[in-house]
Amino acid sequence: ERLVQPGADDLERAAEAALRPRRLEEFVGQRVVRDQLSLVLQAALGRGRAPDHVLLSGPPGLGKTTLAMIIAAELGAPLRLTSGPAIQHAGDLAAVLSSLEEGEVLFLDEIHRLARPAEELLYVAMEDFRVDVVVGKGAGASAIPLALPPFTVVGATTRAGLLPAPLRDRFGFTGHLDFYDAEELERVLVRSARLLGVELHADAAAEVASRSRGTPRIANRLLRRVRDWAQVRGDGRLDLAAARAALEVYEVDALGLDRLDRAVLTALCTRFGGGPVGLTTLAVAVGEEPETVETVAEPFLVREGLVGRTPRGRVAMPGAWTHLGLTPPTPTDT
Ligand code: ADP
Repeated sequence: ERLVQPGADDLERAAEAALRPRRLEEFVGQRVVRDQLSLVLQAALGRGRAPDHVLLSGPPGLGKTTLAMIIAAELGAPLRLTSGPAIQHAGDLAAVLSSLEEGEVLFLDEIHRLARPAEELLYVAMEDFRVDVVVGKGAGASAIPLALPPFTVVGATTRAGLLPAPLRDRFGFTGHLDFYDAEELERVLVRSARLLGVELHADAAAEVASRSRGTPRIANRLLRRVRDWAQVRGDGRLDLAAARAALEVYEVDALGLDRLDRAVLTALCTRFGGGPVGLTTLAVAVGEEPETVETVAEPFLVREGLVGRTPRGRVAMPGAWTHLGLTPPTPTDT
């Protein structure tokens, strides 16, 4: 498992639960979304009505689930958590919807992965607070409309553009989460350290923040590894030396690149002269599946301006060479 991957499995989600901010004012950064959401929630509370449906978009690990939980907490409403991939059939969604309490917040993670029939059921439920329950089979089947109490869908997606327009239009408010800057990640880390009961030195917080790829989930994960190192090999202090030593053990470098990221860069620069080289060839060179290279390593390398995608293949950008301590080739006349 990669230390710097943005997603989380169930086990990690359990470890994360203790570090989640519970209220909007504890939520670090994302000032614009926080401000807008605060208005939506206060207005709904003032009217004594469920707020509009909320769509949260942004890469994994930036706080979408956390915000959904905060929305329910701020409203004093019950919360139901499910996800697009967990709902296999429209009937599964109908069962969830028809059991909602008044004012309940329904969190639908990875909403872009809902199957089409479930998606259509959801439009109607969101718009008219109604599900059509199908009874019987074949020609004798009929749909019985069932009224639902008012509720609020909080949908999360890694890319709002993946949602079909009719579904997107059912959300009264869309918040886009962006990567965090170093100062915000330091605040996340200081807060997490306090909750974990460890003292994190300011320079160590800055060091971990700068290697966390703009992602609170990764920052918290690296913090746990630094804590392990300090406990087992250090003197318990989470200082700069402990942070650096721990991250060296786990092969997370100054930019937050791990071994796979660096293998991709090294192959690109030294074996293929900086490219362009096809994804499959590059993947073979690092001993990985093309999909792994494309979905796991590449997004961050492209975001950091280390790798470029061209119609003829992947190319190393000047920063890739310098990050590896190599000299970029000087452009030659052709
Ligand atoms: P997502 O649902 O977008 O994948 P999560 O809400 O599960 O992300 O957040 C991942 C972890 O990062 C959680 O442990 C959460 O506590 C932490 N986290 C995310 N955003 C923030 C934030 N703004 N302030 C503090 N912690 C955060």
